[in-house]
Amino acid sequence: MDKLSTEARSANMKAIRSVNTRPEMTVRRAVHRLGFRYRLHRRDLPGTPDLVFGPRQKAIFVHGCYWHGHGCKRGGKGAKSNAGYWGPKIARNKERDAKAEFDLREAGWQVLVLWECDLSDNDALELRLSHFLMG
Ligand SMILES: [Zn+2]
Repeated sequence: MDKLSTEARSANMKAIRSVNTRPEMTVRRAVHRLGFRYRLHRRDLPGTPDLVFGPRQKAIFVHGCYWHGHGCKRGGKGAKSNAGYWGPKIARNKERDAKAEFDLREAGWQVLVLWECDLSDNDALELRLSHFLMG
């Protein structure tokens, strides 16, 4: 692999990543509307959860379907068609996600994983969030 194509790839990936922050913003806005306080990306916790509710010991991950290999249409099909280059990366992400979730639960945390494809219905999202956060 030559240097130029590596750089082009990483620039491309950065662009894709920034698009993928939109699901997280959707969740943050919903949590904010519900009136819960949270911290973002706590690096001292396994997997650096996207939203952390410290006193409640609850953590939320917001996963882009493609990069985290969701079994939905967007995740599964995308991963298959790109199995050559991105496949191993997606597989690593999935492993890391599973381990982070496991470690958090072991440490007494409750974990909610929200997928990009779950976020189209705002009312349903708020309901899920309030069940998780109040429960
Ligand atoms: Zn999905």
